[in-house]
Amino acid sequence: MSVIGIDLGTTNSLAAYWADGRVHFIPDENGNRMVPSAAVYLEGEGIVVGRKAKEHLLNGGEGAASFKRFMGTKKEYMLGGKAYTPMELSAMVLHKLKEQAERILPEIEEAVITVPAYFNDKQRSDTKKAAQIAGLKVERLINEPSAAALAYRMQYGSGDKSLLIFDFGGGTLDLSCVECFDNVIEITAVAGDNYLGGDDIDHLIAEYDCTRRGLDYGRLGPKEQAALLKQAEAAKCCLGGTTDDGLSLTEEQLFEICMPLFTKMKELFLHILEDAGLRVSDLDDLIMVGGSSRLPVVKRFLTELLGKEPVVLGDTDMVVALGAGIYTGIRRRDAEIRDILLTDVCPFTLGVETFRRQGEKKGYLLPMIERNSTLPASRRERLVTLYDYQTAVTVKIYQGEEYFARDNIYLGEVTAQVAPKKAGKEWIDVYFTYDINGILHVEIVNSKGEHNQILLANQTLGEAELERHKKEIEALMTPPLEQDKNRKLLERASAYYEQSTGARRERLGALIHWFVAGMNSGRLYRIRRAAEEMERQLALLEEADERREDLLFDGDLKWDLDLEDLGDDDGKDLGNSGN
Ligand code: AMP
Repeated sequence: MSVIGIDLGTTNSLAAYWADGRVHFIPDENGNRMVPSAAVYLEGEGIVVGRKAKEHLLNGGEGAASFKRFMGTKKEYMLGGKAYTPMELSAMVLHKLKEQAERILPEIEEAVITVPAYFNDKQRSDTKKAAQIAGLKVERLINEPSAAALAYRMQYGSGDKSLLIFDFGGGTLDLSCVECFDNVIEITAVAGDNYLGGDDIDHLIAEYDCTRRGLDYGRLGPKEQAALLKQAEAAKCCLGGTTDDGLSLTEEQLFEICMPLFTKMKELFLHILEDAGLRVSDLDDLIMVGGSSRLPVVKRFLTELLGKEPVVLGDTDMVVALGAGIYTGIRRRDAEIRDILLTDVCPFTLGVETFRRQGEKKGYLLPMIERNSTLPASRRERLVTLYDYQTAVTVKIYQGEEYFARDNIYLGEVTAQVAPKKAGKEWIDVYFTYDINGILHVEIVNSKGEHNQILLANQTLGEAELERHKKEIEALMTPPLEQDKNRKLLERASAYYEQSTGARRERLGALIHWFVAGMNSGRLYRIRRAAEEMERQLALLEEADERREDLLFDGDLKWDLDLEDLGDDDGKDLGNSGN
């Protein structure tokens, strides 16, 4: 049985596979690797997908393109008098890729498909359904930036790296911070702009061209605008040259034209670094991905921003597919790459409804697993009773970013019995565990140790599969601070804290605070960094003690940066929950 990796793109899609220690791209009958993500209906031929469909659209024909933008919605596209959803159209593209692959590989059953890191549950499950329709089994979707990071690692080796994936396509800019360490690839933050892409550059060029010819772009008719945009794109792609239609641009002019977009890019760039807790100087590399990353002015702008050149991994259009191809090798457990673990990031917040006061009608959402948390993630929170002598607590589970719980998507609920006592005197522990396959496990434990649980899967799973996932989830449920090694570190640090006085005690207090926040962050990288740094600082203190020196701390305080934005992690306000 063969496994293929698929980059199911907005503009183009590609398939690749791993064999003989490298990735092979799968070409169509004419040797083209890219299959345009487009579908049309042609008289006598029925529905046609790919290059021919794209050509038909370029010549003014009707059909569907860029439907990935509407994945997860019920939007309909009419082809030959029949309506199709983005999911069905994606299934056609996937089917075409599968057919192409079948000419080379035996028995293709399984595919690894990449999706944007910000895709929500519905978009992900529709992607999986599309694969199912196309006759492909999808064990796992992988995030596009993780795929790009994987491609980077194959070329640059497996040392610890902080990377920024800069994916600049036709309609969007997606930024992702990725940490690579040991055999783990973890997305630590995502940011993006759905209205910042190569098409916007085309618009700016068209407006610039109008201005220099004394025209008003806004007053052109739709046909003239479309023709001018086509010229603008051609001029952009062949900088310095003159297109057939006579629109020409120098690199300098384009750099100026793009300035408003660069300003937005810089804001996003600084924003994501802040989210990831990184300084520009912490970034080891920035990797350019997507069609618009081919533009020399974009590379120039990024070089100025970074103070060094960004990385270009061959063709910027193929990096994600390259990563997907490598991942098929991981799935097949090929010796050289089988141990790499891709973590995922939760693109939305998962939480429970809680109340601050008795009688409140609308509770607020207490986030249990925050947006951008690394998966797998596990979190525990203690909630106290709201009413005197209440006998049960119902925990309602929601997904979303809204303040009031009910403004979010309701996922399910669990009820637990509690001993009737005065309000606030009885409690339950709520455990949330969200695994890499998008399965949420919620368990409540009351003060008597009685358990109630619910398993929420975004796909239908068979009994056996569910059992397997349950076992894995149980293993994840031990919070980092309760794991032996980390618990011992905290004990050692606390003992030092008790012995110390003055400035040393103060610094130790801050270090402990930072360590605990790291352990509770839900981020593998941050957890590991906290443990390593604590180990290092304690070893230094112990050495200094042996030499009877009054060491404060090592000068290179890696945790100083994070201290500024520490939330009040350990002194958390306990939410009330009641019914
Ligand atoms: P993608 O969505 O990643 O396929 O990227 C599509 C975008 O890349 C479109 O806006 C194209 O105009 C742009 N693009 C493709 N080739 C080039 C090129 N050689 N130079 C500049 N932009 C390009």
